[in-house]
Amino acid sequence: MTSDDVTEAKLLEAALHSARDTQLLVLERGALRETGVAFESLFGSAPALVIADDRTLTAGRETIDSLRARRQLTEEPYILDANTVYADHDHVELIRNRLAATDAIPIAVGAGTINDLVKLAAHRSGRPYMVAATAASMDGYTAYGASITADGSKQTFDCPAPRGVIADLDVIAAAPAGLNASGYADLAAKIPAGADWIVADFLGEEPIIRDAWNTVQLQLRHWMADPAGVRQGHLESVRRVTIALMMTGFAMQSARTSRCASGAEHQFSHLWDMQHHTHNGQAPSHGFKVGIGSLASIALYEALDELRQTDFDVEGAAKSWPDHAANEREIDELFPEDKLKEIAQKESAAKLASADVLRQQLARLKEGWPELARRIHNQLFPHAEFQHMLREAGAPVEPGHIGIEPSRLRRSYRQAYHIRRRFTVLDLARRTGLLEPALEKIYSTSPSLEGRGKGRD
Ligand SMILES: [Zn+2]
Repeated sequence: MTSDDVTEAKLLEAALHSARDTQLLVLERGALRETGVAFESLFGSAPALVIADDRTLTAGRETIDSLRARRQLTEEPYILDANTVYADHDHVELIRNRLAATDAIPIAVGAGTINDLVKLAAHRSGRPYMVAATAASMDGYTAYGASITADGSKQTFDCPAPRGVIADLDVIAAAPAGLNASGYADLAAKIPAGADWIVADFLGEEPIIRDAWNTVQLQLRHWMADPAGVRQGHLESVRRVTIALMMTGFAMQSARTSRCASGAEHQFSHLWDMQHHTHNGQAPSHGFKVGIGSLASIALYEALDELRQTDFDVEGAAKSWPDHAANEREIDELFPEDKLKEIAQKESAAKLASADVLRQQLARLKEGWPELARRIHNQLFPHAEFQHMLREAGAPVEPGHIGIEPSRLRRSYRQAYHIRRRFTVLDLARRTGLLEPALEKIYSTSPSLEGRGKGRD
């Protein structure tokens, strides 16, 4: 065992111990064959119901074989149609109806969609559940809450994380192209998300929770170190991303906040979800959107850092800070659609600081900038390096790759600020009065955001 492995094992033990819902993680090659033993240890002799789709059916069959080898009662698997299954309310109801006809414990066999559907359906049926993950595609397996489309918009419903998680590395390493790249990008997003938490902590907006921070951040660079290996399905590289995503979920379970996993980069993604963005007829994966959001966030950090060399004007920033009415006018202009406008009004108002609070924060920033800049610098990768890593993993690296035009991304910076009260680099830029100058800088110098790099990849 290397020292990294020892630290990882310790981190995992601590993370599982403090997770509220998940008691067991089996993450290894051939883990599906351990499902029966794992299920028995969690649920005794309760019957099991495997829920899969026709693409994860092989893994579903292996799960059932493992259960039967332990003489565990299993029902006929419930198989959804992979071409039509969608993380929406109708499918939650379908699964809930199936669960109503049995007292079996559901085992979700699949990736994000199947896990989210079963998570919410199980919760609404008053039952725990277990998941066998078939791809390292996002950090939602072990997170509380399910992301489901209801009433035309994607929403996160609070519900417990799985009681047990099986992650078979042979299955995950062979996942269809793009799925593990998505997970890699969702993991890489913890880099700018961490910087946002550092800033929020520094300005007294949201203190860092040390255990959750350590769970996600201590080994992050090690886990991200081989993006090409993830693309090529190398077991060790895939293992690192898988464990990292599971750990992030545990951190969210124990801290009861997604702050440790999500910052401004996720707000870009949520914005595009709320705008029902599709590219080539499909919504780009969560990871691909947050990967592009991460690049946008890092570009903003870098532009701010350059602008800060020339210092910022506390009185000027305080004077141009919008009052409630001016903020509402800006929201009116940015959000033509009523539903989004409503969310923006509520979220943005919740964080609209008074001019006095703003002055205090700006003074704190002015005085503490060298220290804060050093901490941010240590946290982030340079934009070009981050972009290179995403490219190596097989994830999109230009906004155009997910169908977002540069001009739309520029507007998204201003919109993403308003749709969530969470304090991020977008707030840092707004409060210092440097958002527009920073965007000017980004759009005059960055070939990737300008779209001039098209065709290069
Ligand atoms: Zn995410």
